Amino acid sequence: MARYTGPSCRQCRREGCKLFLKGERCQSAKCAITKRPVVPGQHGLLRKKDKDYGIQLREKQKVKRAYGIYEKQFHNIYLEAARMKGSTGDNLLSLLERRLDNVVFRMGIGCSRKEARQIVSHGHITVNGKRVNIPSYKVNVGDIVAIKENKKELEMFKVLKTQKLAMQKWLEFSGAKLEGKILALPLRDDIDLNIQENLIIELYSR
Ligand code: SF4
Repeated sequence: MARYTGPSCRQCRREGCKLFLKGERCQSAKCAITKRPVVPGQHGLLRKKDKDYGIQLREKQKVKRAYGIYEKQFHNIYLEAARMKGSTGDNLLSLLERRLDNVVFRMGIGCSRKEARQIVSHGHITVNGKRVNIPSYKVNVGDIVAIKENKKELEMFKVLKTQKLAMQKWLEFSGAKLEGKILALPLRDDIDLNIQENLIIELYSR
C-alpha cells in the first residue's frame, strides 16, 4: 500500500472521530472534527450509513490510522496477537501500544505518534543504552527508553525537563534524566482510544 501523504485531518473526518494526529492542534478549536465533522469529499454529506462489513472495515482503518501503520504491518500484528494466549483483541491493542514510536509519544517526547516516529527514525532514542531507530521495535517490561546522550541538549527536548504530563500507569518518565521505564505491559484498560477491537477480529475472521 502506498504511503498516505494527504492531509491528516481528512483521515479523522473519514473515520468520524479524533485520531490525534497533529499534536496541539487536536486540542484546539481549529480541529477539523470540531469545525467540519462530515465525511470528506463532494458526496460526504449524502453518504449512506455503513453496513456490517463497512463498520468492521472502518474500525480497522481507524486503528491503523491512529497508530500510523500500513495494512501489511497491521495484519502481521493481528496474526501475532492471534498466536498469543488470551484475547486476540486485547493482545492486538497491547502489541500496538508496545511499539517504540507509541511509547515515545506516550512519554510526551513527541506531540503526536507521527512526530514520535520521526524522532525514533532519526536516531534520537535509545533502549537500554543502545540506539534504536526502528519505530516498530517492541518494548518489554523493564526497558529503559531514553533520549540519546548527545541529543539531550536539543531545544526540542529541553522543554521536557519541566513538562508535567499525566503518565499512563504502565509507564514512567523522568524529565530530569530525560528517560523513562516500562513498568508493565499495557492492558486493555490502559488504552484510552475509543476502539471496538472485536469488530477488527470479526473482519479478519471472515
Ligand atoms: Fe484529527 Fe487532530 Fe486534525 Fe482534529 S486536529 S481532525 S484530531 S488530526
